[in-house]
Parts: sequence; C-alpha cells; structure tokens
Amino acid sequence: TALPEAYNEPVREYRPGGADARALRAELTHQLGQTVEIPSFVNGRALHGGGRRIEVRAPHDRSALLGVAHGVSAQQVNEAVDAAVAAAPVWRELPFDERAAIFLRAAELLAGPWRARLNAATMLGQSKSVQQAEIDSACELIDFWRYNVSFARQLLTEQPESSPGVWNRTDHRPLEGFVYAVTPFNFTAIAGNLPTAPALMGNTVVWKPAATQLLAAHWTMELLREAGLPDGVINLVVGDAVEVTDVVLSRPELAGIHFTGSTTVFRGLWQGVAANLETYRAYPRLIGETGGKDFVVAHPSADPAALRTALVRGAFEFQGQKCSAASRAYLPRSLWTALRDELAAETEGLSFGDVADFTTFGGAVIDERAFRRLDAVISRSHADDAVNVIAGGRTDDSQGWFVRPTIVECADPRHDVFATEYFGPFLSVYVYDDADYSGVLDLAANTSPYGLTGAIFSRDRHAVVEAMRALRFAAGNFYVNDKPTGAVVGQQPFGGGRASGTNDKAGSVLNLQRWVSPRSIKETF
Ligand code: GLU
Repeated sequence: TALPEAYNEPVREYRPGGADARALRAELTHQLGQTVEIPSFVNGRALHGGGRRIEVRAPHDRSALLGVAHGVSAQQVNEAVDAAVAAAPVWRELPFDERAAIFLRAAELLAGPWRARLNAATMLGQSKSVQQAEIDSACELIDFWRYNVSFARQLLTEQPESSPGVWNRTDHRPLEGFVYAVTPFNFTAIAGNLPTAPALMGNTVVWKPAATQLLAAHWTMELLREAGLPDGVINLVVGDAVEVTDVVLSRPELAGIHFTGSTTVFRGLWQGVAANLETYRAYPRLIGETGGKDFVVAHPSADPAALRTALVRGAFEFQGQKCSAASRAYLPRSLWTALRDELAAETEGLSFGDVADFTTFGGAVIDERAFRRLDAVISRSHADDAVNVIAGGRTDDSQGWFVRPTIVECADPRHDVFATEYFGPFLSVYVYDDADYSGVLDLAANTSPYGLTGAIFSRDRHAVVEAMRALRFAAGNFYVNDKPTGAVVGQQPFGGGRASGTNDKAGSVLNLQRWVSPRSIKETF
C-alpha cells in the first residue's frame, strides 16, 4: 500500500491579530490560569506517585505554577516495566500499517487542533519564544512522526536475494524486551521522538521525561493516547532520574536506551549497563545524543552580515540551550575590527522577557541550577584577565532565571571558554591572524571533546573544502554559510560523534535501524 508522502510541516508566523496568534494567545491564557496535575502513565492508567513533589513553573516567571507532579516509587517503576513487557507481544504482532497509522494520526492532530496546546505548554514550561516553540513542538515533532513512518517503511521492505528453490527473507523483529527513553527539556520534539521511534518499530517503552519539560511531555502523552496508542506501549514515568534509572537498569528485559541529554548522564548510563551486563538477556542498544561545543569558523572571505546573523541566532536563540548552539567562534582579524561593535550592539539589543507577549527574542534559562551555573561562568569571566566580556555579562533572578546573552573575547585558544559546554547564551570568540586560517581549522577541530555541529563561513570555495577536510570528525552536522542550529527532519539528519553521542541520526533510517534486530530466514522448498 502506498503511504501518504512525508513532507515538512510549514512553519506558521503568528502575525499579531491573525487567527493562529489569537488561538495561541487564548491557549496561553488558559494554561496560565490553571495548575495541571501531571500523572505518570502506566498501562494506560494515570498513576499518581507518592514521592517528591515536582512543581512546574514558568522559568521567566516563577509566580506561575503551571503543574504539579509527584515522583513514583521503585515499585511503580517496576510496574511500568512490567506493563511495557506485557504489552510487547500484541504490539509487535500488529501489522506495521496499523502502528504507522497511529503516528500519522498523531502528526495530523498536532498539525491541527493540538498545535496551540503543545506550543503554549512549550512556551510557558520551557520559556521558548513563539517562533522557537513553533519550529519545535509543532513542526519538528510533526516531521518526526511523518518521516519516521516513511523511513520505517523503507527499512522494513528491504529484502535479500533468493535463488531457485530457496526463499530468503528478513524478518525485521523489534528488540526483545523494552526500550528506556530518557528525554531532555530543550526540545519537545526530541522528547516526543525518543519514545515513539522505537515504538513505531514494534518496541514497547518506558519514558522518563526531564522534570523541567513535564508540561509538554504530559500533553504529548495525552495526544498520543488520543491518536490511538494502545495501553502499555509507552509508559510515562515521572520521578527522580537516578532512582528511576536504577530500577530500569536492573531489569533483565532492558533491550535499549534512547537518550538525549548531558554527556555525564549518558556516560553514567553506559556504566550502569556495564555493571548489570550479566543480568540482561541481550546486549542493550545504547543510542544517545549529548553535548556540544559547537564552532563557527569564518574565513577572511566570509560575508560579514550573514556571519553576524548566524552568530546571534546560532548562539542565542532559545537562550543558547541547544546542543547545537554556536558557542565558540574563530574569526579573522580583518573582519573582527568592524564586526566586534556591531555584534555587541546587536546582542545588547536582544530582548528577553515574558515569552507569552510574543515580542521578545527569548525567555529565561530553564531553572535555578542552569542559572547558577551560568552566573558562575559569567562571574569567572569578569574576574579572569585572559577573558574580555564584550556583551552581556549580567544576570537577573528577581522574577525569573534571566541570563543576558554574553560574548567574550579570549586570546588563549586553549582556555576553558573554548572547551567546556556551558549550555546557555554564552559565545566565546578567538580572533586569528588572517594568514593563519589552516592553523585555526586545526584548533577548531581539536579543542573540545565534542563533535556535534559546526559552521564554516566563506565565499572562497577552496577555503570551504579545506574546512570540510580539517573538520571532518569535529561535527556530525556541518553547515556552510549558515548557523549550526535548526536541523530539519528529512533534510539534515541530526547527531554527532565523539563525546556528543552515537550519531544515530534522529529522524533517519539509521536511527530506526537501531530499534530492530533482524532475523534472516532461509526457507528451502
Ligand atoms: N536538532 C536541534 C538543532 O539542530 C538541536 C537538538 C539538541 O539541542 O539536542 O538545532
């Protein structure tokens, strides 16, 4: 049967006074006026834990209590695993088309009636501007569901050659056991994709969302249920990350982990799996996308205006809280002289505030922990003679967790500001002598342990080719004359290597392949 063809959901503009803006505004008002009880969801039943109370507050306005959840007990985590294991035999025997239809329906629900709800939850709960929410909780999540279905179909139809009297087949089995999805706060789309991609391939899932993304995770779960997801296929568990993970990793049926988050936590998961290795029935698949210290390198031939826009948007959209955010720039002295003041002025002009008023460039950073971390980095920068703060360098926690977008210049290319991921609106600039372009490519390639995204700006084709070669393993997503953020599903499969993850490209055949364990069948007649 022919599938509906996948296409990218068009990004809506939310022009003031337009119908989309009005609907979203009404939804924002509605969500601001209520405090949602956020349950876990196990075997299709809402489950209210008795553990630690988790409050969901708007990062830009702590007075707004948007939701309340309670962590589950170890016993309840075990029930979630039991539910996933019990649901597996029925789910994996459903014809692929029936599983696919659920996610195609989810995509259409999100493109239509659910769009405002998930966008509003993402704006309020994660402090995203309307534009940043729209490309995430609407377009990218819709795209994941549409494209995964067509990539899965492509994968499932691959069959080997046969010969006279022999029929060879591939039985694309799901993994035997359950998949553990651990999702981040920064993209509602990623939080939706990590449990649903394995589920599409016939696996059942225990999903632990970040405590700082619970509002949007809750509505994503409700949306999937409305789309017809059967009980037990995805079991959402709210709770303390370490406690939940300890229980999950102790279960012999653990078949895979689908993770996006910090490098430290991902390494901890590998270690936890290693410590329990004798317990598991099979080697769990560990698929993860973690941090980045993403570069922008400019050649002296770069277009200065394009470069400036890319730096501002790449470094500061969503307060720099993208794994892909530009956080270190290598700029030639000939361009820097003019660029320096323009860049600083443009950055100082960016407005951060209440994202619900639709006019701000951004909101606050996600929580107090992020605020304290960034506040400390900024204080250190002011105190460090090697570091020159040229924009921002201020924070304000009177109402929300606000960190001004900060640019520093530093003449020591091995300084921490070029190596450590701060995960916030912080851009470090190294200025190089124009003649030293090749040397700077080497620096960019080897200063940080990460390998997620990066960009080269140049109007000289030879310089672009040289950069592509020198930076080959420094970025899994490489941009020529564009910012290093904003990968689009179906167009730029996303992921990186080195300390940034296993590079199993989200929203691609490569990722879906990790959720199947094929059986080769030779039948002799
Ligand atoms: N896919 C996102 C982008 O291209 C980044 C995802 C992340 O931050 O993990 O900007």
